[in-house]
Amino acid sequence: MKNLAFFQDKNILIVGLAKSGFAAAKLLHSFGATVVVNDKQPREGNKEAEELEEMGIFVECGGHPLNLLDRDIDFLVKNPGIPYHNPLIDEALKRKIPVYTEVEIAGLISEASIIAITGSNGKTTTTTLIGEMLKNSEKNPIVAGNIGTVFSEVAAKSTVNDILVAELSSFQLMGTEKFKPRISVFLNLFEAHLDYHGSLDEYGQAKAKITENQDQNDFVIYNADDERVSELMKLSKAKHIHFSVKKQMIDGAYILEDALYFQQTKIINLKDIVLPGQHNLSNIMAAVSASMLAGASVDQINNVLTSFTGVTHRLQYVGDVAGRRFYNDSKATNILATKAALSAFENGVILLAGGLDRGNSFDDLIPSLKNVKVLVTFGQTAEKIAEAGTQAGIETIKRADNVEEAVPMAYSHSKDGDVILLSPACASWDQYKTFEQRGDMFINSVHKLK
Ligand code: ADP
Repeated sequence: MKNLAFFQDKNILIVGLAKSGFAAAKLLHSFGATVVVNDKQPREGNKEAEELEEMGIFVECGGHPLNLLDRDIDFLVKNPGIPYHNPLIDEALKRKIPVYTEVEIAGLISEASIIAITGSNGKTTTTTLIGEMLKNSEKNPIVAGNIGTVFSEVAAKSTVNDILVAELSSFQLMGTEKFKPRISVFLNLFEAHLDYHGSLDEYGQAKAKITENQDQNDFVIYNADDERVSELMKLSKAKHIHFSVKKQMIDGAYILEDALYFQQTKIINLKDIVLPGQHNLSNIMAAVSASMLAGASVDQINNVLTSFTGVTHRLQYVGDVAGRRFYNDSKATNILATKAALSAFENGVILLAGGLDRGNSFDDLIPSLKNVKVLVTFGQTAEKIAEAGTQAGIETIKRADNVEEAVPMAYSHSKDGDVILLSPACASWDQYKTFEQRGDMFINSVHKLK
């Protein structure tokens, strides 16, 4: 770890006692900072609060009282999910107290070089691919961020011989100031999270922070097919590395004669890549670029691409029942993800979709639904999506109560050779705790058919 002296005499207020807040509190306390923790939930039964109190950390639960800021606070570390219009955060900013996320802490203390990945869709897939490519090449990657492990916690354990591979959301990046990855990856930018960010512009700016402190010794890898991303990255001082499924970007990854190249090096024939979908080809190009720059071997990259079948719940191949191929894309919680999933298949997909109603229309989905021959809808948006299906001219549209019922219903309208795809285009919270639970229900229901 480095920069520990910086924290020693600081008064730090941690807002939000979820996984990352808990880890950051313990870490900053161990550096000798005076840590105060605040959480909205009541104190009763909160094991994390109890553990922190036993360490001598002051914990205030049950609201966000503004007088916490009177403790001569040097900076806040907030959970990425807490919006900036939260009165406590708002007041801190008014008093010119910096508000960070634990990503800032991770960046400051990490001895390892950092590969950071952002974008609206494809982060987990790309991050996982980079992790696999580096692991097979014996480059000691440590995968962090949204996928399970807390970034600052793994940063604390890392050494100069490791490479931290971190998936970062716009929410996390907004709370950074000095964060400086060695390699940053910007996949794409779609309209999402506008309830948090207000506008696409602000959302893009938050993501663009990934490269803000990079210099000419660093690399910024980005999608040349995405105009908004290209525009945002123009100002980056890092070395620009492009990837494109359409154009030959010889400084980065591109396609030539049905093979994927990175700069002058042929990586793999496209027909040997297992992961389906054009969108995944884009993710793969980003991952190949980052891994090549970080010293992975071409042979090992090739091995990963000929065996990697996808991250669970992301267009994951579940199996075959009587010639029907089932795919679980439960992580598709917005329209764009479902469009990407549908474009991965030939015509005649049987689609299962629906979930939490955020008030949006599904008009943008209509062109992609032309690829669907049977539509089974469920959840709060069942009617809206069925209506989009009617407009797309789908003849067979069915309503199910939930995913468990939708699977046998889809099966009864299928034949040998069909693809049956769960790609809901909606969040899961109307019926399921998480998208993982929804995906597991799908997988279980498929196994029951057998
Ligand atoms: P994230 O971590 O950014 O949410 P994931 O890799 O978990 O991304 O994929 C989420 C969903 O987005 C998946 O359901 C997948 O079908 C879709 N998706 C993945 N990569 C892309 C991409 N490059 N463009 C559009 N959609 C994508």
